[in-house]
Amino acid sequence: MRLILIGAPGAGKGTQADILSKMYSIPVIGTGNIIREAIKTGSELGIRFKSYTDKGLLVPDELVVEMVADRLSHDDCKNGFILDGFPRTVVQAIEFEKMGGRVDCVLSFEVSDADVVSRMSGRRMCSGCGATFHLANKPPLVENVCDLCGSPLIRREDDAPDTVLARLQIYHEQTEPLVEFYSSSGVKFVSLDAMQRVEDITSKVVGLLETV
Ligand code: AMP
Repeated sequence: MRLILIGAPGAGKGTQADILSKMYSIPVIGTGNIIREAIKTGSELGIRFKSYTDKGLLVPDELVVEMVADRLSHDDCKNGFILDGFPRTVVQAIEFEKMGGRVDCVLSFEVSDADVVSRMSGRRMCSGCGATFHLANKPPLVENVCDLCGSPLIRREDDAPDTVLARLQIYHEQTEPLVEFYSSSGVKFVSLDAMQRVEDITSKVVGLLETV
């Protein structure tokens, strides 16, 4: 199964990606996570990435495309993968096609700007393993402590309110055109109401994927 998940920041793509990854035993290729890992290492590339992510801007297409091409060449992608956060521009989608990237289904997570802003204010991330939580919707068992690895939870720098607004604007300008791109591409394209309960979204997706 090869899937692309698109949607505004905070729409719940990462949560569904993790669930579907376990169900179908396929890896999640989360470009945001790969970029954050590179930033953590303090490498030259990481420092370059940070200059974009801190402002809520997208990292240049050519850097992301190269990163994804490299990741998809790993053996664990042979039976499928879930692309979470890629492609994020039409240029990336075209480059993905040029590298022979084929997918079975594109899932588009629909959510209003107001809901994104409210969701992002409560989002927390584990400083150790990167797992995500939400103060209201998915609180950790112990306040500010990761359920999985015990590290402290933090707010992602790019989840600060001003940066969220910038990211939303970029989403509308650069990523939303992918909805048109994929819905007219012949690939199975499904719009999902991202404000439904997590379990309800998962069962809808699983039902849809049975027909793929
Ligand atoms: P995410 O965790 O998916 O919200 O990504 C965090 C940040 O990483 C984004 O705000 C961008 O700066 C960068 N990023 C992630 N994926 C991409 C992509 N496909 N193209 C460009 N920048 C990306």
